[in-house]
Amino acid sequence: MTSATTSDAYLRSALVERRHHLQQALTVRPDADFSSLLLQVDAALARLDHGEYGYCETCHERIEPERLLRDPLEEYCSDHPLPSEQERIRRDLELARQIQLGLLPRPGLAIDGWHYGFRYEAAGEVGGDFCDVIVRRTSGETLVLVGDVSGKGVAASMLMSHLVGTFRSLAPLELPTGQLLARVNDLFHDSSSMSTYATLAAASLWPDGSVDLYSAGHWTPLLRRHDSIQRTVVPAGLPLGLFPASAYTPARLQLAPGDALLFFTDGVVDAENDRDEYFSLPRLTHALAAADSHDIQGLVDHCLRDLRQFQRSQEAADDVLILGVKRRT
Ligand SMILES: [Zn+2]
Repeated sequence: MTSATTSDAYLRSALVERRHHLQQALTVRPDADFSSLLLQVDAALARLDHGEYGYCETCHERIEPERLLRDPLEEYCSDHPLPSEQERIRRDLELARQIQLGLLPRPGLAIDGWHYGFRYEAAGEVGGDFCDVIVRRTSGETLVLVGDVSGKGVAASMLMSHLVGTFRSLAPLELPTGQLLARVNDLFHDSSSMSTYATLAAASLWPDGSVDLYSAGHWTPLLRRHDSIQRTVVPAGLPLGLFPASAYTPARLQLAPGDALLFFTDGVVDAENDRDEYFSLPRLTHALAAADSHDIQGLVDHCLRDLRQFQRSQEAADDVLILGVKRRT
């Protein structure tokens, strides 16, 4: 369907065919629904004759061809769906939101002396940020994942759930974490389009307080030790899905009781206020240092509160995810 004329000819034949079937149906079973559909088909044919067919009733712009091909009686473009359609979309998104929330870790998790807290706030109903906490029984480590899929909204949320599923299925295999990341990278690369990728910060936490940190093009976590905050340095790895056969090398840290790591996504540091200023890493560092909470969820909440106060009335443009993990005192 390349030209408007071919498309119009095709749509006219589709309408004429519907008209024929409706007339046949009416001869065997006179039906009010059939009659009203016949009237709609006739009205669409008349609009075609007058060159008025295929324009949105609300904005008077062209209705997308694929939308008309799906339903030649369509009178609204995809930006201006009818209230009944809006309601269906709203219900679908709400269901998708519930499914996505169900993929997040349980609140208040504590495993092998590590305590977890997090906040996930999608900019829309669903988001492309993700986090997970996976216990790896064979090695005895706990795997922490915090990431951000390229793009936004429903498409990003589908990729996010795909990634979470891939990690959960591969995690029980006895692969060291670096190799696990490489395997997930290859699978994600094979199954997604050229322009999609995900950045990820990962950590293997061991019961003795040691931590292996990995980065796939993502912000490395902040380390809160007593009341000082340090940026962690991790060998750079490429985002997941960009290139096959990427390698991921860890940096090893030793956390003392009470030490905490704070993972976060772009949406946190890139959040803007109404003066076009970014929240940025120094403000996040300051928020983390100023938090007096000894409870890790309290620490995360404090940082998010600071961020929202900074943004004030400015609407969030991106998903926000903050995850904290603290070694038991
Ligand atoms: Zn419209």
